[in-house]
Amino acid sequence: MPAAKPIKAAAPRAAAKRAPHSAEVERVRAIFERFAAALPEPKGELEYRNHFTLLVAVVLSAQATDAGVNKATRALFSVGDTPQKMLALGEAGLIEKIRTIGLYRNKAKNVIALSEALLRDHHGEVPSDREALEALPGVGRKTANVVLNIAFGEETIAVDTHVFRVSNRIPIAPGRTPLEVETGLLRLVPKPFLRHAHHWLILHGRYTCKALAPACPRCVINDLCRWKGKRLEADSLPKRLPKARRKAAPARRDAG
Ligand code: SF4
Repeated sequence: MPAAKPIKAAAPRAAAKRAPHSAEVERVRAIFERFAAALPEPKGELEYRNHFTLLVAVVLSAQATDAGVNKATRALFSVGDTPQKMLALGEAGLIEKIRTIGLYRNKAKNVIALSEALLRDHHGEVPSDREALEALPGVGRKTANVVLNIAFGEETIAVDTHVFRVSNRIPIAPGRTPLEVETGLLRLVPKPFLRHAHHWLILHGRYTCKALAPACPRCVINDLCRWKGKRLEADSLPKRLPKARRKAAPARRDAG
């Protein structure tokens, strides 16, 4: 009888789980130290009055801009800042208030249904645990992460389009899905920075590391970024500027 072949050990799904190299840990730490030095208390830009309106604002913000949501919710929250008041407004009344927001019909249905669920299952309060939050209509992992972070101070990281792009671009925690990025960030971001990490990354993506035209020359982490397409100061100057003016342009200031 032929000898049995030795069973090969399964290849470890290593890259995702291997301990990060210490130089990489230091680079990520330096990135967040720069963000913290530039903006010690970052805040989200959605406007809200209480936990309920925060939850509603985040549900409404899916595939919409914070500015667009705020424009609609200022009037909405003046008459609907509790589940009871939202139900009194009704789906048709809610639609009237949010019709400038994309996917407003579906979102209105969800907001009414989640208001009913909060009253039925949670005494009208927004629950503070993930499972209960994700069981609410229209609430997925990203929304739950935002609410857990802002309302309940948890060290969660909500991966939106900006966080996904900059995490892959810089890179900090590359991943093919939001969950992969989130898991990587939770593993790599040093604990003192976890609470505000997603706000720093969102704001960095929204105002500096923009999708089409990243403002590399004024980026506080320019020297820590490994994106091949990043630009340095001289590259950003229009080529038609006289040489003397190009030389006179202010040098990038490295924080930290
Ligand atoms: S250097 Fe450019 S690409 Fe890199 S993080 Fe800064 S803005 Fe983004």
